[in-house]
Amino acid sequence: MTLRFHNTLTGTKDAFEPIKAGHVGMYTCGPTVWNYAHVGNLRAFLFYDLVRRHLQVSGYAVTHVMNLTDIDDRILDQAMHAEVTISEYVKPYVAAFFEDMAALRTQPAAHYPRATEHIPEMVNMITELIEHQYAYVADGDVYFRIASFPSYGALSHLDRSGLKAGVRVVADKYDKESVSDFALWKKAQPVDEGLGAAWDAPFGLGRPGWHIECSAMSKRYLGETLDIHAGGIDLMFPHHENEIAQSEAANHKQLARVWLHSEHLADATGQKMSKSAGGFTTLRDLRDAGHDPVAVRFFLMAGAHYRTRLRLSAEALHAAAEQLRRLREFAERVRRSAPGNDDDVRLLQRIGEVRAAYREALDDDLNLPQGVGLVFAVVGVIGYATGTTALGISATALALIAAFLNGAFGLCLGCELYLLIRRIVPARQAL
Ligand SMILES: [Zn+2]
Repeated sequence: MTLRFHNTLTGTKDAFEPIKAGHVGMYTCGPTVWNYAHVGNLRAFLFYDLVRRHLQVSGYAVTHVMNLTDIDDRILDQAMHAEVTISEYVKPYVAAFFEDMAALRTQPAAHYPRATEHIPEMVNMITELIEHQYAYVADGDVYFRIASFPSYGALSHLDRSGLKAGVRVVADKYDKESVSDFALWKKAQPVDEGLGAAWDAPFGLGRPGWHIECSAMSKRYLGETLDIHAGGIDLMFPHHENEIAQSEAANHKQLARVWLHSEHLADATGQKMSKSAGGFTTLRDLRDAGHDPVAVRFFLMAGAHYRTRLRLSAEALHAAAEQLRRLREFAERVRRSAPGNDDDVRLLQRIGEVRAAYREALDDDLNLPQGVGLVFAVVGVIGYATGTTALGISATALALIAAFLNGAFGLCLGCELYLLIRRIVPARQAL
């Protein structure tokens, strides 16, 4: 079976094929560093890690880029209240983001571009969009003209008639041609310069809108067409739709061949977790409550398929911790078991079957929950073999188990058990 992803753009599970054989360019929307990331954000970031690791397990070299949004309205507000510049304000939250990523065992991206360090790229793209009538200046702000981009809405399968394109709307704060036109550049307010949040541009002093940063930075690091663009489902509209409009209008190339979106994390009451709604949980909160970050990782990645809503609760986290404990205990048991001499043909065959089924589950749009079920099936089989016979596990069986668990544990547990298994096998000269 070939690797297939559910592509939001086509609405179907499609066989994955990158532009350049063997290499994948993947752009993922990162955090807005105005506060700590909440576990709902972390679910999306761990989803990126799953995509990336499975691509690597499948033999692809992956260049992963994840942006940091270090300028937006909330950051400006907070910096103004704290009487610091925006770069001073975001510093602890940037550090906290990297701490969280390390605690959750995600593989570092190749690049973490920051919006404020790529203003020239954004200014260039906006200039081009204005030149070709895709954008217009209105009282120092620059807006993208949605009416100029007929395929707007294709990603989210949006009914464009509801957008009222062409209707001129003058709200108190805006001077846009149409309500749905979105900002590429926002005119500087008097306080912005003091906060380090105003840049010169041919269309006036100001700062970039949120959407343009992803268009400019993905192009800078990965070129005009990405193999994969991923994000949380709440970014699909309008953020990703706007990215497509900007990039494709400027580059005349498809922005991304495959769009992947992960579902929300819900809180214990079933509500979507969000910072704006107030009640959100951070990894710090969970650690303070005694939860192991690796168990949190396991829960967020394997608790439900990535396109299914997952509900955070203390019970669910404890259940994940218990599964993790069983896996650790299993790895330890394998490590201590006496080497066997005879190859148990049936055991080898069973491991081989489970391994193939695991691979198939992951190749089928990353069905990790099903894959984890198979991991426990193999744990049961080996546990039975080591627990009920004095033979121990043969070198061949160990090599098979190790090869299987390397991939499986690597994906859901981020190499902790993977390393343990790897230490066992060379010691028994099996690989
Ligand atoms: Zn983005």
